[in-house]
Amino acid sequence: MARERPLFIGSEIYRRSKYAGWHPLRVPRVSTVMDLSRAMGWLPGDVYLTSPRAKPHLLERWHRPNYVAALLRAEATQAVTPEERARFGIGTVSNPVYPEIYRRPATAAGGSILSGELLKDGGVVYHPAGGTHHGMPGRANGFCFLNDPVLAMLSLRHHGVRRIAYVDIDAHHCDGVEVGFSGDPDCLMISVHEEGLWPRTGRLEDDAGGSALNLPVPRGLNDDEMDAIREGLIQPAVAAFRPQAVVLQCGSDAVEEDPLSHLGLSNNAHWEIVAALMGMAPRLLVLGGGGYNPWSVGRLWTGVWATLNGIEVPDRLTPGAEAIQRALSFPGNRRGRNPPDHWFTTLRDRPRGGPVRPEIRHRIGVLRGRLRAAV
Ligand SMILES: [Zn+2]
Repeated sequence: MARERPLFIGSEIYRRSKYAGWHPLRVPRVSTVMDLSRAMGWLPGDVYLTSPRAKPHLLERWHRPNYVAALLRAEATQAVTPEERARFGIGTVSNPVYPEIYRRPATAAGGSILSGELLKDGGVVYHPAGGTHHGMPGRANGFCFLNDPVLAMLSLRHHGVRRIAYVDIDAHHCDGVEVGFSGDPDCLMISVHEEGLWPRTGRLEDDAGGSALNLPVPRGLNDDEMDAIREGLIQPAVAAFRPQAVVLQCGSDAVEEDPLSHLGLSNNAHWEIVAALMGMAPRLLVLGGGGYNPWSVGRLWTGVWATLNGIEVPDRLTPGAEAIQRALSFPGNRRGRNPPDHWFTTLRDRPRGGPVRPEIRHRIGVLRGRLRAAV
C-alpha cells in the first residue's frame, strides 16, 4: 500500500562533515533543512528516516569496483597517489580528499537506494542529501563522488518500477545521469540548466539517444520564464511519457543569490515545479543537488518539504527557525557579510518575474516539436 504521508530521509553525517578549505561545500545544507523543518513543527519523528550507508556491492550496481575501492582507500589513508588522482578524479580542487570521502557519499547513495525500495508501492520521498548528478561510473566529477540519482533510479527498477521521468532543475547539466540512462526507452530525462556553465554538456540538440530533453537557458532566468518552461515543456512532456515514477533533482543553485551560477530565480519557481509534479505519477522522489548559499539552500529546501506536505508557508519563521538561520555564516563570500534580514525571518522569496525572452520560447518550441514527433 502506498503511504499517505511523505517521508524525509536525512542523516547527522551532513552536520559534521565538510569538504576541505574554501570548497563551495564547506557550508552546512541538509542539517539546516532538518533543523528548520523541526523548528517549524513540520518534521515529526514518524516521517523521518536515517539514511543507511550503502555497502560497496550496492554502489557497484553502477560504479566500477576499482573506483569504489579507491574511495575506501582514500578515506582510510586520507591521501591519493598521483595515478589515482589522474584516473579517478579524487584529491583535486573540486573533489578533495576529506575525512568522510567514502562515508558521506555512500550515505547519500544509501538514502537514494532506500528511496527506491520505499517507493515500491507508491508514495512520496524527500531526500535532500541526494542529487549528486555529476558522478561518473569510474570517477568523481563536479563535487560528486557517487551518482545517487542513478542509483535511486536503478533501485526503482530493481523493485519493478520501469518507466521513470527524471527532471533536473539544477543550474548545471546532469551529465552523469545522462551517461547512466542514455538511449533507455523507459527513461525520460528533462534538464533545465544555464548555458555555457560547467560541464557545458546538455546542448539543445543533444537528445541522449532519444532519452533526453535538454534546455539550456541564458543567464538571468526569471520566474516567469521558468513558469513558461514548466507549463510549456516539463508538465506536457512528463504527462505524455506516463511515468511510473518521477525523480526530481531540485538543486537550489538556480536562485539569484547563488555564488556559482548566474540565473535569477526566486525559490517560488522551484516550489511551483514540485507542486506541479506531485500527482503526475504514483511515485515521487525529490532529491537535492547544488546550492551553495547556506541561507537560500535552507530556505528553498525547507519550502520543498512544506510543499510536499501541503503546508502553507507562513509569512514569518518561528523564533526557533529564525535562530537557526541567524546562526549560519558564509565565510569567505561577500554574500555572508551583510545578509538581508528576510533570509533570517522568512522562507519565501519575493517573486522575481520578468519578460519571457524569445530564445527561451524558441527552445521550448524546438523541444516540443521533438516531443510531438516521438508520439
Ligand atoms: Zn549545480
